[in-house]
Amino acid sequence: MANDALIARRERLLGPNVPTFYARPVHITRGRGASLWDADGTRYLDAYNNVAHCGHGHPRIVAAICEQAARLNTHTRYLHEGILDYAEALLARIGWPGQLLMTCTGSEANDVALRMAQAVTGKRGFIATDNTYHGNTTAVAHLSTRRPPIGGWPEHIRRVPAPDSLTPLGGSRAVQPEAFAANIARAIDELERSGHGFAGFMLCPIFANEGMPGVAPGFLDPSVEVIRRAGGLILCDEVQPGFGRVGAHFWGHEWLGFQPDVITMGKPMGNGHPVAGLVAKPEVMAAFREAFGYFNTFGGNPVSVAAAMEVLRVIEEEGLQANAAEVGAYLLGALRQIDHPLIVETRGLGLFLGIELAREGEPAGEEAGRIVEAMRERHVLMGRVGRAQHILKIRPPMVFSRADADELVGKLAECFAEIAP
Ligand code: PMP
Repeated sequence: MANDALIARRERLLGPNVPTFYARPVHITRGRGASLWDADGTRYLDAYNNVAHCGHGHPRIVAAICEQAARLNTHTRYLHEGILDYAEALLARIGWPGQLLMTCTGSEANDVALRMAQAVTGKRGFIATDNTYHGNTTAVAHLSTRRPPIGGWPEHIRRVPAPDSLTPLGGSRAVQPEAFAANIARAIDELERSGHGFAGFMLCPIFANEGMPGVAPGFLDPSVEVIRRAGGLILCDEVQPGFGRVGAHFWGHEWLGFQPDVITMGKPMGNGHPVAGLVAKPEVMAAFREAFGYFNTFGGNPVSVAAAMEVLRVIEEEGLQANAAEVGAYLLGALRQIDHPLIVETRGLGLFLGIELAREGEPAGEEAGRIVEAMRERHVLMGRVGRAQHILKIRPPMVFSRADADELVGKLAECFAEIAP
């Protein structure tokens, strides 16, 4: 009853643009590690939230935010050591000399990345996949939405078919990298012929929102060649894979094996505090300054930077990247033991895992929805992605333990057992 009242109040006060998860939304009031508690004191296992990267309510990060907030928070027009210490620590994690620009959200970072590519190339056109999400500003929303914007798709945006695990581009996974690159080459030609020209290609290096479609390292090599030959920039959205989540590497692009021109990051960067940013080469930064100018009131403020700095320290000192590799491999192995005719593939990279469901070769989105709802009723929170929302998505805080993995797998096996083959 209490939740019904909250839902009605929310609809009245916030309108339809702040949707909740689940048929019966959860009212969370407290979190610690990978656990959440609702208003009635019921514990939930969080198998979804990549924002609380180091775990909910991490005491060190909370203390860092509180200490800095009590000392000073202001806009970014003054000298401050915090942002420099952070830049040094973060840039040391990147294999080439870059510079850091800080924002408050991943959307803003991606928006700036687009303008950087325009500044460098003097051209206007962009390419992204047709089933992705890069944020909510007007510019990046054009790369994100599945619905055509009012007035139709802007001519300077081209959407290439996303790699797919059920129906791979070109007919097989073996030829998918070349087929993907051929579509990019075609889109570049169209952009050049239309007069907009080709400024850059934006992608998530693990194709997270596309459903992590089982691509392998080297997948992008033919595309990189095509993009470089055309003089475009590669804008790598690390909002989901970044900060060690893929286990074997700190960044998703290191796993896929290519070097981007711009790296954008967000969500996990402040463990829940809104901080985001991007790294680009000095000449890209200079071209952006020259062409656009830029100021961000809150991006890189002392409190945001204190949160982000403590996140980096905690990842390092608590060995969270190694935990993602170790527990991720354990979880993947256990998930693969679940046997059900709907499951066509269970895949994972560190603590980012997906279970693809299909019925007679067709994506089984409805059944995936039922599993997610059934898990919520068993107090385990997870999500789904994919072109038909048919891939179960498991992406927990990086402190996820083997015991958490056992709980997840046990309950998931029960949910699958309830679903007719
Ligand atoms: N890029 C990717 C890959 C994302 O998943 C998201 C958020 N879901 C964004 C960008 C946008 O980040 P934000 O919500 O912080 O603007």
